[in-house]
Order: sequence, then C-alpha cells, then structure tokens
Amino acid sequence: MDLEKTIQNLRKNEFEVSYFETAAEAAAYLDSRIDGKTVGFGDSETLRVMGVPELLATHNTVYNPIGVHDDDEFDDIAKKTQLTDVFLTSVNGISETGEMVNIDGTGNRVAGSIFGHEKVYMVASTKKIEPTLEEAIFRARNVAAPTNTKKFGYATPCAKTGKCYDCHAPRRICNVMAIYMQKMNGMDVEVVLVGEELGF
Ligand code: SF4
Repeated sequence: MDLEKTIQNLRKNEFEVSYFETAAEAAAYLDSRIDGKTVGFGDSETLRVMGVPELLATHNTVYNPIGVHDDDEFDDIAKKTQLTDVFLTSVNGISETGEMVNIDGTGNRVAGSIFGHEKVYMVASTKKIEPTLEEAIFRARNVAAPTNTKKFGYATPCAKTGKCYDCHAPRRICNVMAIYMQKMNGMDVEVVLVGEELGF
C-alpha cells in the first residue's frame, strides 16, 4: 500500500486529506474541528468503534442511525442526517489512484455523502487502500459487504463464504454503489485516513 501516492492522488482529485497513526488521534481531531453544528452520520463501523458520535454529541446536535434496529426509527433519523451542516461516514474501498467506493443497501449513507452539507468527512483505515479503482470495487463487493452481512446475521450467500454472488436475497445490502471520482461541487470533502485497522 502506497500511502503517499494515495494522499497525493486524493488531493489531485480535490479532496482534503489528513492522516493519523491512531484512531484516538483521528477522533480527537474530528472533535476539535466540528463544534456547534448539526451533524449526520452514515452507517459506519469505523466511526462507531472510534466513539465519534458520542464525542460530537457533547457539543453538537447529532443524528446517528448507527445501531438503530427499528425500521421506522432508522428511517426517521436517516432522513434527518441528509440536510445537516456536517456529515460523517466511512468508505468501503480507496484506490491509490485517488478514488473512493461505497456500497449501500438503504441509500442513506451514499445519499448523505454526496449532497446537502457544508462538509463531509470520509473516515477510513489505510487497510482499505487498494492499488487500483477496480481492486477497490472488488474489495467493497468481496470484503466489506460480506463482512457486513455476516455482522448483521443476514441470510445472504456471501455471509457464509466471504465472496459476492451478486445475489437476490431479501436482505441483499448491495443496492447502490457510489464512486467518488472527485470532490463534489459546492461542498468540502475531507478524507481522514487512520493507520490502524478499523471497520470493514
Ligand atoms: S450482492 Fe448479495 S452476495 Fe454479493 S455481497 Fe451483496 S449481499 Fe452479499
């Protein structure tokens, strides 16, 4: 994994980039940068493990659907995340060529990450960096998504083997895939890379 090349190419694609060795340092950075804002979260194991929602909730208005299992409650919170000042999520894959990839089932994470905010933070472990965009997409489909279905206990074929079958299972979580090719117009996007293993 070539971290310097990845950072250079993400910057060439107009993403701001910061890097921290540890999750604790990255969480403290986010806590220092986001204050007095409305804040929405996309589903993210990375941010959950880092404790970022709890940290920000002490001095921001936070809408966080992570870990909410009731469908109506989830929808209500997820809708509120779409027009907040700040939105935070992770990504499923990053390429050394400077793109990022996300797969989503309900769409709230992808929708919130591309429009409607002053600033979006994409927080991800450097273990998600792959040499090419094709390999980042492969990672999203054959590492991140199967690990997620297994975590949720969904009856999808990938949950058993860790490999994507492009299934039509009722709990398929791969309904939309976003490729972040360059920063969206009218919105700041910062990629926060963490040198620890985090998320899927
Ligand atoms: S399409 Fe189906 S088999 Fe493939 S990763 Fe998604 S849920 Fe699993």
